[in-house]
Amino acid sequence: MYDLIVIGGGPAGLTATVYAIRKRLNVLLVSKDLGGKTNFHLALPWIDTYQVIRGLEIVNKFRSELEYLDFARQMDAAEKVTREGDHFVVTTKDGGRLETKAVILATGARQVRMDVPGEKEFMMKGLCYSALSYAPLFIDKDVVVVGGGELGLRSAGELATVAAHVNLVCQDEAALKTPLGRKLVAAGNVTLLKAHEVVAVKGDEFARSLVLKDAAGKTVELAADAIFVEQALTPMSAMVAGLAALDDRQRVIVDCACKTNIPGLFAAGDVTNGYAEQVLIAVGEGAKAALSAYEYLLPTL
Ligand SMILES: Cc1cc2nc3c(=O)[nH]c(=O)nc-3n(C[C@H](O)[C@H](O)[C@H](O)COP(=O)(O)OP(=O)(O)OC[C@H]3O[C@@H](n4cnc5c(N)ncnc54)[C@H](O)[C@@H]3O)c2cc1C
Repeated sequence: MYDLIVIGGGPAGLTATVYAIRKRLNVLLVSKDLGGKTNFHLALPWIDTYQVIRGLEIVNKFRSELEYLDFARQMDAAEKVTREGDHFVVTTKDGGRLETKAVILATGARQVRMDVPGEKEFMMKGLCYSALSYAPLFIDKDVVVVGGGELGLRSAGELATVAAHVNLVCQDEAALKTPLGRKLVAAGNVTLLKAHEVVAVKGDEFARSLVLKDAAGKTVELAADAIFVEQALTPMSAMVAGLAALDDRQRVIVDCACKTNIPGLFAAGDVTNGYAEQVLIAVGEGAKAALSAYEYLLPTL
C-alpha cells in the first residue's frame, strides 16, 4: 500500500511528487508523460527565442529528479479512483490496481479544439492556446482569437492591451454583455465577428490566416500574425466523478489547502476550480497539495 499516489506529471503533479519524496512518503507518480503542457513551445515566424513566464527551470528540475527516481513513477494512464474502506484504489489502463492511503489528482485540463483542417498541422506554429502566457509577444501585431466564452473574452482583453488589432470570433452574444464584453465591444482595436463559423487554418511553415464562413455562407479569410484558440478547457476529472464534488465546469472543487470534499483525496493545478491556468500557479498548488496530504497521513506514518 502506498502512502500517496499522485496522478498526472505536469507542473502540479511533478511538484507534489517531489515534495512528497522530501517528506519521505512512500509515493508513486502515475502519469502519461512528464512535464504535461510545459512540453508545448510556441514557434513564431518573427522571433527565435523569447522570454515569457514558463516556469521551466523549476519544472525541468523536478522532472529530471523523477526521471532518475524510476521507482517513484509509473508511466501509465489512470482510469478510475475509488474509495475502499479507509484507503483508495487507482486502476490503470495497463490493468494495474494500486492501493494507497491518499491521492493527489493533478491531471490538468485539455483545450477544446476547433477540429478543422490545418489545426493539427499548425498547432504551436503560429496557432496557440494560451493568450495569457503569450500576449506580451504580440505588441503591434494582428491576431485572431476564437472563442466567445469567458476564456475567449479574457484572452482577447489580454491581447487588446498590446496588439495592433484583435479579431474576435465570438458566437456567444450573452458574454458580450459582461463588463469585459462591453469593454471589448467599445475598444477601437477589436473587431467582433459574430455568427461566423471557423472552416480552416491556412499557412506555410506557420499559420498565416483563418478561413471563416459568415451566416450567409460567404467565405472570409483573415490574415493574422497568430491565431489563439480559446474556446474552453475540459478538466480531466472524469476518473473522480461520482467520488469528489465537481463544479458546473467539471473542475474538482478544492479549498485553499487543495483538499476535496473527500478526506484523503486532494487535487491541484488546472483540473481544479482554482483561479487561472498558469505553470507557476500549478507548481504552487502541487506543493500545497503534498504538504496537505502529508498532514492528513501523519497519524498513519
Ligand atoms: C499551448 C499552451 C501553452 C502554455 N504556455 C504557458 C506558458 O508559457 N506559461 C504558463 O505559465 N502557462 C502556460 N500554459 C498553461 C500551463 O501549461 C498550465 O496551466 C499548466 O501546465 C497546468 O499544470 P497541471 O500540472 O495542472 O496540468 P498539465 O500540465 O496539463 O499536466 C497534466 C498531466 O496529467 C497527465 N494526465 C492526464 N490525464 C491522465 C490520466 N488519465 N492518467 C495519468 N496521467 C494523466 C498528463 O499526461 C500530464 O502529465 C500553456 C498552456 C497551453 C495549452
